[in-house]
Amino acid sequence: MAYTNSPLVNYTKISQNRTKNRNHTIDTITIHCVVGQTSVQTLGDVFYPSSRQASSNYGVGYDGKIGMYVEEKDRSWCSSSASNDHRAVTIEVASDTTHPYAVNDKAYAALLDLVTDICKRNGIKKLVWSTDKNKRINHLNGCNMTVHRDYANKSCPGDYLYNRLGEIAAEVNKRLGAAASSPNTNSDTSATGSFLVKVIDNDLNIRKGAGTSYAVVGQIKDHGTYTIVETKGTVGQAGSWGKLKSGKGWISLNCCYVQRITSQATSSVIKGDLNGDGKVTAADARIALQIAAGLQKPTAEQLKAGDIDGDGKIGANDARAILRMAAGLKK
Ligand SMILES: [Zn+2]
Repeated sequence: MAYTNSPLVNYTKISQNRTKNRNHTIDTITIHCVVGQTSVQTLGDVFYPSSRQASSNYGVGYDGKIGMYVEEKDRSWCSSSASNDHRAVTIEVASDTTHPYAVNDKAYAALLDLVTDICKRNGIKKLVWSTDKNKRINHLNGCNMTVHRDYANKSCPGDYLYNRLGEIAAEVNKRLGAAASSPNTNSDTSATGSFLVKVIDNDLNIRKGAGTSYAVVGQIKDHGTYTIVETKGTVGQAGSWGKLKSGKGWISLNCCYVQRITSQATSSVIKGDLNGDGKVTAADARIALQIAAGLQKPTAEQLKAGDIDGDGKIGANDARAILRMAAGLKK
């Protein structure tokens, strides 16, 4: 694909600090904080001389203006990782000089416009953020947003932006129409009824309300199973939230952080119903076979539902029994 540059750019000053021709398609966004409420011109002057040994593809000024310092076809020297900068478009955003390195509203709004434009032109259909560094740097579960602190002992992009990266992804995805079109097996727009999720994130924030703007009131670090009694947004998508039955608060239901394991909060499980859809079908038998083959680890509920012969595990016998149940041969 031929590389292009953003039409939103107000000011251009190409830095001497760049590597000609990136060696990877653009599939990642890396947002940085400048540590200074600077203009795009000042940033251009900072990044220009070779003595600086640093640059970014774009910069967002305190006033919402957008500067370009390295064309998208070239690799910027921005994130302390050559491989990241070869695949990422890097963006420096004017920020305060002290923690949490806040960004003002004009710069934040311009950043959303710029990121949306970059995604559109480069065929990035959906932004996926994770609070798990391992998922970010290894691009697991489709995660395509990275941060400077992953590659160097820095606080960049600062907590103000870091804590909003999920929100940025959700807003950009809304503009890209990603939420409506992306296939997602966990998808369920219904906000009624309760269901279980297994937390896969290492430290998932519990918040006072459904959104990253609400205060963090706790964290889940046990990879446990939790009952969700109310939802906001489309379950599994970035920007979706679930209320914990315990009343402690809300957690993100992004599929990077949690997996939905049953459609009902079941204390009594239906024998043979491994996917929790309330009935026994061939799909349950397939799950049982995968578990029997060691390809998938059963949850506690699945073990209860799938251990038909009562030997404490789900084996090939159980998978066969479930298949017979699905075929209506045995209740
Ligand atoms: Zn940085």
